[in-house]
Amino acid sequence: MADASGFLKIKRKEAGNRPLNERICDHSEVEQVLNSEDRMLQASRCMDCGIPFCHWGCPVDNLIPEWNDLLYKGDWKAAYERLNATNNFPEFTGRICPAPCEHACVLNINQEPVTIRENEVAIVERAFTEGYIKPLPPLRRTGKKIAVIGSGPSGMAAADLLNKAGHSVTLFEKDEKAGGLLRFGIPDFKLSKAVIDRRLNLMIKEGVVIKTGVAVGKDISGKEILDQFDAVCITIGASKPRDLKADGRDLNGIHFAMDFLSLQNRVNSRQLTPAENPINAEGKKVLVIGGGDTGSDCVGTSIRQKASSVTQIEILPKPPLTRAENNPWPYWGKILKTSTSHEEGCERYWNLSTAKFSGTNNQVTGVEVEDVEWTNINGRYSMNILPGTRKTIDADIVLLAMGFIHPVIDGLLTELGLELDQRNNIKVNENYLTNCRKVFAAGDSVSGASLVVNAIASGRKVAKEIDKFLRKI
Ligand SMILES: Cc1cc2nc3c(=O)[nH]c(=O)nc-3n(C[C@H](O)[C@H](O)[C@H](O)COP(=O)(O)OP(=O)(O)OC[C@H]3O[C@@H](n4cnc5c(N)ncnc54)[C@H](O)[C@@H]3O)c2cc1C
Ligand code: SF4
Repeated sequence: MADASGFLKIKRKEAGNRPLNERICDHSEVEQVLNSEDRMLQASRCMDCGIPFCHWGCPVDNLIPEWNDLLYKGDWKAAYERLNATNNFPEFTGRICPAPCEHACVLNINQEPVTIRENEVAIVERAFTEGYIKPLPPLRRTGKKIAVIGSGPSGMAAADLLNKAGHSVTLFEKDEKAGGLLRFGIPDFKLSKAVIDRRLNLMIKEGVVIKTGVAVGKDISGKEILDQFDAVCITIGASKPRDLKADGRDLNGIHFAMDFLSLQNRVNSRQLTPAENPINAEGKKVLVIGGGDTGSDCVGTSIRQKASSVTQIEILPKPPLTRAENNPWPYWGKILKTSTSHEEGCERYWNLSTAKFSGTNNQVTGVEVEDVEWTNINGRYSMNILPGTRKTIDADIVLLAMGFIHPVIDGLLTELGLELDQRNNIKVNENYLTNCRKVFAAGDSVSGASLVVNAIASGRKVAKEIDKFLRKI
């Protein structure tokens, strides 16, 4: 176990971020890296706490105390092997996971938690640099063919494990490049796309066939896929955005967040030139509706596009700075989050409801908002609009970042006749099997919009179930 009294001697030290004035001039990753010596000292803060709640908090069950111990002792190779045992893509989670493990860290009861996420990315990056990570194609093929539809983190994790088990996997993706929201949702300043390409190239060398630009259910029918493959895994994400039905919604200049973010990611990868980008915030007043992570990504992207001002509004109340009494450790702390994008210059307001979009000449010029008040009656929250509080926030561009409601149902899901749950996500049983024979599903398309680490966890579980199924037929 790492130094049992390390946490008494060493303070939490984060790698920190690139200087603000530098980073807003480009789209490169914001977060820096710590030198190896400091990183090993940080690992030493992981005490022998007996019951590692961090492990409970991690959706992929990462063996956190074990790899922290190996990292502290300088055995980077063994640390990587323990990390790789539970997580296919620590280079993604180590960069962008919100780290529920750190919320659950025992040190977090009365001190600062161990830098678990940063330790994770340090271990995997060292493994790449040292050449510990090499293509490892399976020694034998089973002769079974699997179609994985959708190449986000859940599809990638399922494809990776099924290929390693010796099955022949084809990963279908409707977009021009694989990676799902890692590629076209999450901005480059949080996750460099070279990191995704590095992993996809490894998977290709190991034998996964990736077919991009193929929308299953349109370019090739679901029936053809069923005829050609022994099992099918649907991991198409939950990309239907929540809309805001208010007067003036049809005005020009109002966009879904994903349209805005994916265009900038395509500019970054030179699939588009900046001049070809139809949603450019340069010199404009941007209003982001929705106070979550997608909204925060819109803030950072607008700032990099040189918007004249950026405002973000949220209908819910401002979260507290510390845990509320009904939100104890080791649960996820529902506290105010200030992202690097917020630090870069953004006005934030809470308790605001959108009443109307206003505009002239068919172009949005502002949004009329009203204050709201939330009351908790027997654990149920209800919202009241406060009369006489209507005001206008000026805006040339409005970005709707209010989350996603369910997967796209028209097309593949309708063609296969897949049953949906009450929230219109794909319904699966405890084995990740849908109502359609040999068709499995995982990731956001089953859970609803979630996190990369949950998508990887779900992709790992569905792979196990598909492998069991294939071994029986
Ligand atoms: C802007 C934004 C920022 C985010 N930031 C974070 C973050 O910082 N940390 C975090 O943990 N999570 C973040 N998330 C959430 C995270 O990205 C998702 O939970 C995760 O990517 C879901 O993975 P998935 O594999 O289920 O689906 P997705 O990543 O959505 O991938 C689904 C893929 O299926 C493809 N597809 C759909 N239909 C078809 C079809 N018919 N044929 C072929 N292909 C198809 C899609 O094109 C897509 O590539 C963010 C989400 C967004 C939108
Ligand atoms: S994947 Fe996320 S929750 Fe798990 S150890 Fe890494 S940062 Fe923590």
